[in-house]
Amino acid sequence: MNYNLCDIKTIESLLKKHGFTFSKALGQNFLIDEKVCPKMAELLCANSKTGVLEIGAGIGVLTKELCKRAGKVCAVELDRRLYPVLSETLGDYDNFELVEGDIMKLDLKALLEEKFSSCNSVKVCANLPYYITSPVIMLLLESRLPISEIEVMVQKEAADRLCAEIGTREAGAVSVAVNYFGKAEKLFEVGRESFMPSPKVDSAVIKITLYSEPRYSVDDEKRFFTFIRAAFAQRRKTLVNSLSSSLGIPKGKITEALKNEGLSASVRAENITMEEFVRLYGLLY
Ligand code: SAH
Repeated sequence: MNYNLCDIKTIESLLKKHGFTFSKALGQNFLIDEKVCPKMAELLCANSKTGVLEIGAGIGVLTKELCKRAGKVCAVELDRRLYPVLSETLGDYDNFELVEGDIMKLDLKALLEEKFSSCNSVKVCANLPYYITSPVIMLLLESRLPISEIEVMVQKEAADRLCAEIGTREAGAVSVAVNYFGKAEKLFEVGRESFMPSPKVDSAVIKITLYSEPRYSVDDEKRFFTFIRAAFAQRRKTLVNSLSSSLGIPKGKITEALKNEGLSASVRAENITMEEFVRLYGLLY
């Protein structure tokens, strides 16, 4: 069946037929703007050799656009009430596969190997459930999965943070993590009226292009990110105070490392550049 999945009447009758009601806890805000999903799918630049992992298919509005352009699309969806809906709306696409489960709990490495062995590259595309935006992005990055691009819809404020330049006020721990693995850019903004139900905030689509070779090297990435989170944990405090109170590093040692980098003892995390973070970490551990 060829449904118009942006048409409110169509959506309502489809959802009614399957007895579905929206769950706020699962971050369910379905896209109803006719232009957004084709634009997202287009900007992913997928071809018949591209595999796409979607997170949270909903009723398949974005999935459908991805299926039209990519070689294979696997969509992870947690809410089992949507499975019969998806088999109805995407039944015509034989390059679509539903993966039942929680994106945070699946073995993604094994999943990608199993599903996309015949693809040249794998990209992630999603209108993310907002309650897990940062955890999902961090999971995708830190797991070092064989993916080349992550294009996701997130809250506008989250987009600004994720794409912030390091060493500016907008930057946070998550921006440093993104910069460590790739380059993030904001593609376009999407107003709250483009969703059903309409959320209280506006959104934006961002794209993270992952470096094929690591650009920075640290001895222990997990420990590096713990260090970064501690640096930004109390944004108003100086870096010396944040790091010493969160990680128990003596203040004198931190001041010494800052001095080594030509930085003043009163700098805050938002004043530090990516290269300086990497070197400070090296000096302190
Ligand atoms: N892509 C659809 C739906 C977006 S709403 C659209 O744009 O219209 C977010 C979707 O993510 C919902 O379908 C929700 O059920 C699903 N979801 C929420 N938490 C999830 C999780 N942990 N793992 C996988 N899917 C999840």
